[in-house]
Amino acid sequence: MGSIKKYDIAIIGAGPGGIYAAYELTKENKNLKVVVLDAGNELHNRKCPIDGDKIKTCIHCKSCSIMSGFGGAGAFSDGKYNITNDFGGTLYEYIGKEKAIELMQYVDGINMEHGGEGTKLYSTANTTLKKVCMQNKLKLLDASVRHLGTDINFVVLENLYNELKEKVEFKFQTPVTMIEAKDSGYKIITATGALECEKCIVSVGRSGSKWIEGICEALGIETESNRVDIGVRVELPAVLFSHLTDELYESKIVYKTEKFEDKVRTFCMNPKGSVVTENTNGIVTVNGHSYEDPEKQTDMTNFALLVSKHFSEPFKDSNGYGESIARLSNMLGGGVIVQRFGDLIRGRRTNHKRLASSFARPTLKAEPGDLSLVLPKRILDGIIEMIYALDKIAPGTANDDTLLYGVEVKFYNLDVKLNERLETRHKGLYMIGDGSGVTHSLSHASASGVFVARDILGMN
Ligand SMILES: Cc1cc2nc3c(=O)[nH]c(=O)nc-3n(C[C@H](O)[C@H](O)[C@H](O)COP(=O)(O)OP(=O)(O)OC[C@H]3O[C@@H](n4cnc5c(N)ncnc54)[C@H](O)[C@@H]3O)c2cc1C
Repeated sequence: MGSIKKYDIAIIGAGPGGIYAAYELTKENKNLKVVVLDAGNELHNRKCPIDGDKIKTCIHCKSCSIMSGFGGAGAFSDGKYNITNDFGGTLYEYIGKEKAIELMQYVDGINMEHGGEGTKLYSTANTTLKKVCMQNKLKLLDASVRHLGTDINFVVLENLYNELKEKVEFKFQTPVTMIEAKDSGYKIITATGALECEKCIVSVGRSGSKWIEGICEALGIETESNRVDIGVRVELPAVLFSHLTDELYESKIVYKTEKFEDKVRTFCMNPKGSVVTENTNGIVTVNGHSYEDPEKQTDMTNFALLVSKHFSEPFKDSNGYGESIARLSNMLGGGVIVQRFGDLIRGRRTNHKRLASSFARPTLKAEPGDLSLVLPKRILDGIIEMIYALDKIAPGTANDDTLLYGVEVKFYNLDVKLNERLETRHKGLYMIGDGSGVTHSLSHASASGVFVARDILGMN
């Protein structure tokens, strides 16, 4: 039997958290032996088999190319790096607000050096839109947004991969099954063998949520889970939102409902973008994309309106709740349902005829239906209230032809108990990125990677 291979640091997950941890660890060439293990494929081998022709639905590949592999869940994303502590995660609670922003800016600098140069950085600083929002019971959250776009985001990842593969050992199609704590360091057991490391950084994102739960249980690390965001994706002519999107690109606006004082928020705004479907464990939900390349742009803008649902004891399965609602829309519409706002408020289903006569052209082929049969009343009431509030700052939002796609669900990972260095109760075992519950975004996940790398290097 050959001896087990030993590394200084093993990184589990090659999403933004893992990538930037690897980048920072090897930046100064300190001769550290670093291995990055990922369940998915190398960037260019990531291909979802759904072609809309021969393969129309998810065939449950061993690893999902959309969510897994180099670049993680963000590889085919819109590449919006939000530099802010107002949303995208709670990294600042561990490392402080100033440090968190500094690291997000540092990551932005790396992206610019690796192909992102020339992309636009939007900012809410000095905007008059903040006041307009306030006057209409809406709150515009503070942020700078670097919009790479799906195409440039891919180029940046490609450049980072080409650089990193010279310094770090990558092992793709290597799902880690277990982490065992040893007297000194860790034994990492994968589907194809085992290795040992002094320190381990776990950055497994959303796709690793179930796995990380098991690992935490096995290693006696405390966790907590109680949140899911549910809502719809709104699509309307881009011109109605152009005064917001031209200045800010992505505006995160929060509304507090009059009826229940629930918070409804805009999420993932895609100017001149397209609505797309997303498949999580066989459940089809909705999402959005946009491109920097004008040739790929549409004349429609889309964004999500989400309501956060927090549960208290004894119910613990917040993600299960979100999945059940998404399943309901799949049951009724065979996938994603689309409804005109005018039909929703008149209490009638959108059918093919009504959709065809609509002024707004849907960018996603979805089944016309009735979202009131899917979404809980309180959530739907909140969404309708917010559409009317947005209509005051962007007249036309509450037009009859505004399209609502459902459902959009934002699942959260459980919160892993970590110290202020993002380390678990086991010395040298770090959990970062979306998998740890600390982050929910590209910039926060990336910054958490840089932070732990510097912690390991004794640089913090
Ligand atoms: C369609 C889409 C669009 C998005 N758009 C944006 C956006 O514009 N802006 C934004 O801020 N955020 C966006 N996000 C969210 C963003 O992608 C995530 O917040 C970010 O990727 C989290 O990074 P991470 O490194 O924590 O995890 P991930 O990116 O999820 O990477 C985790 C990696 O770990 C691997 N892994 C999981 N389990 C194991 C295991 N057991 N063994 C080995 N490997 C494992 C996975 O294969 C994966 O490659 C989007 C997400 C999606 C799905």
